[in-house]
Amino acid sequence: MKELVALLNQYAKEYYTEDNPTVSDSDYDKLYRELVELETAHPDLVQADSPTHRVGGLILEGFEKYEHEYPLYSLQDAFSREELDTFDQRIKAEFPQASYMAELKIDGLSVSLTYVDGRLQVGATRGDGSIGENITENLKRVQDIPLQLDKPLTITVRGECYLPRKEFERLNNERQESGQTEFANPRNAAAGTLRQLDTSVVAERKLATFLYQEASPTERATQDEVLKEVADLGFSVNPRRLITSSMDAIWDFIQEVGRDRDHLAYDIDGVVIKVNSLAMQEELGFTVKAPRWAVAYKFPAEEKEAELLSVDWQVGRTGVVTPTANLSPVQLAGTTVSRATLHNVDYIAEKDIRIGDTVLVYKAGDIIPAVLSVVESKRDSQEVMPIPETCPSCGGDLLHYEDEVALRCINASCPAQLKERLIHFASRDAMNITGLGPSVVEKLFTSDLVSDIPAIFQLTIADLVTLEGFQEKSATKLYEAIQAAKQNSAEKLLFGLGIRHVGAKASKQLMEAFENLQALSQADEEAIAAIDGLGLVIAKSLRDYFATENARLLLSELEQDGVNLSYLGKKVSADAALSGQIVVLTGKLEHLKRSEAKAKLEELGAKVTGSVSKKTNLVVAGSDAGSKLAKAQELGIPVVDEEWLLTL
Ligand code: NAD
Repeated sequence: MKELVALLNQYAKEYYTEDNPTVSDSDYDKLYRELVELETAHPDLVQADSPTHRVGGLILEGFEKYEHEYPLYSLQDAFSREELDTFDQRIKAEFPQASYMAELKIDGLSVSLTYVDGRLQVGATRGDGSIGENITENLKRVQDIPLQLDKPLTITVRGECYLPRKEFERLNNERQESGQTEFANPRNAAAGTLRQLDTSVVAERKLATFLYQEASPTERATQDEVLKEVADLGFSVNPRRLITSSMDAIWDFIQEVGRDRDHLAYDIDGVVIKVNSLAMQEELGFTVKAPRWAVAYKFPAEEKEAELLSVDWQVGRTGVVTPTANLSPVQLAGTTVSRATLHNVDYIAEKDIRIGDTVLVYKAGDIIPAVLSVVESKRDSQEVMPIPETCPSCGGDLLHYEDEVALRCINASCPAQLKERLIHFASRDAMNITGLGPSVVEKLFTSDLVSDIPAIFQLTIADLVTLEGFQEKSATKLYEAIQAAKQNSAEKLLFGLGIRHVGAKASKQLMEAFENLQALSQADEEAIAAIDGLGLVIAKSLRDYFATENARLLLSELEQDGVNLSYLGKKVSADAALSGQIVVLTGKLEHLKRSEAKAKLEELGAKVTGSVSKKTNLVVAGSDAGSKLAKAQELGIPVVDEEWLLTL
């Protein structure tokens, strides 16, 4: 049970907070079910941090927290007709007359919209159900969310925000072109978009919504009336729904929707069945996690058989060699699949996957095709899959470290790795060189114009024009993008170097602390590890990297090419007035906007967080401050006002 809790919590973090799931939803659901069964059998062993007791995800830094007046819930799920019947019997035992509303379960993320006197005041994510993130500015950029209602109502409505499939494809094509990692599926893309700090990015990606709930007290009597009212107010409401008291009719509806699923303009992952009468809903109430009056039927992940024809071994940026299966083409969740990941050598060995096998293929996270298992009954004795001993790109030895599942090429000048490193170097979060995506890197490589990072900065327009598909204009544009990147603040360069464990955020912290890459390259491990939140693993990795002659040469070459090695962002000095203090803002401020007050506090060295706890050092309270002020007083935390902040 401990193992399951830890695993599920890790997956939930990757899914909700990082928008980067590493397992498919059905894998997650299977493990979740296993945990529920164990908890039911051993209630005395239920872990305090079990995901069965929590709604949704964590709250991120970067947005203000928003305390929901009406909590948001998860949904109890069902995977079979039997489970739906159990739900039906439970409801009918209490309300024999009950009828249901069946709606599509849109696969996006829930948002809560509060209007005051008809004006959109707050838009927030679900978060953990009681506290979400205030993403009002981003939601204002979603075209079908009205900023002003026709009637001056004070009302909170809820719905699902999603990225239409067409937009998702467009976005991923664009990301692939410019060398950024692609989103796993439309849901993750939507979640990532709503957490953008730059609202113009949100406006560019055409998110949309379907509303399905009025959370504030309503005079409507049924879910059906609520949906009609919400639609009348100008919100998008999904037209496909069914009211019935018969589970047979609901089951038919589910089958029908399942057949049409691939042809919808948006992703759905099931059908939600709700008791239609709001009075009955109120009587039925909630568990800690979900309403008792609703259930979500989830479609099974589609699996298909295919023949495994051959395997390609591809070398990544860090030398990890990944196997991809070439398959006989199959139709799977809306697309034709002819390639699927085999993850790594350990996976192949564990599942004993062989060339010529009939395998089951599915879409992980409903997007990335993967080989699930072998259909043993269809195997005629073939030999075990041959595993390469040398790198398919450079011919160097491949190693299989004991603590790793993957094969690794350790030749630092392996061309495949170099190419991947260059793609990473140019990508948006790194040097952000627009136009230098995978296909252009490939061309630069094959025409021998670039074989290492510094060579990028030595390219001339004359060089670039020689590339296939390039003209004077496109060559000049790329040249200018490369020149502009030379002036980047150095954390972009540091991240672009692709040093193990050193991500974009750590790069920023490191450059803030050391100011110059040369200085960082000479810093000792303890000095690096002492930076808040970094620690020894990163410190050691940096030390190992900069200890090599190659790294030192690289830095001096870049410097000679005119690439900036200094940190250009704002720096907070250690003796700033509020250095290291954790500060909470609450109430209405008179002179400063919230965001301005936050920026000022940060300039003074404070870390601004959204809720008061024992760790809080100071609370800045404006007028009408509520629960946060009370909590600060209760904990004896010093409280100051806006004037104090302005004086400081
Ligand atoms: P849920 O997705 O099972 O259901 C609740 C949500 O459904 C609501 O919050 C709402 O946003 C949405 N919804 C869509 N249409 C709706 C409608 N018409 N009416 C009402 N609600 C509607 O709940 P959850 O707790 O957000 O997520 C749990 C699921 O998330 C898991 O079952 C799993 O599939 C997935 N998950 C996956 C991973 C992973 O690593 N792959 C990790 C965590 C969770």
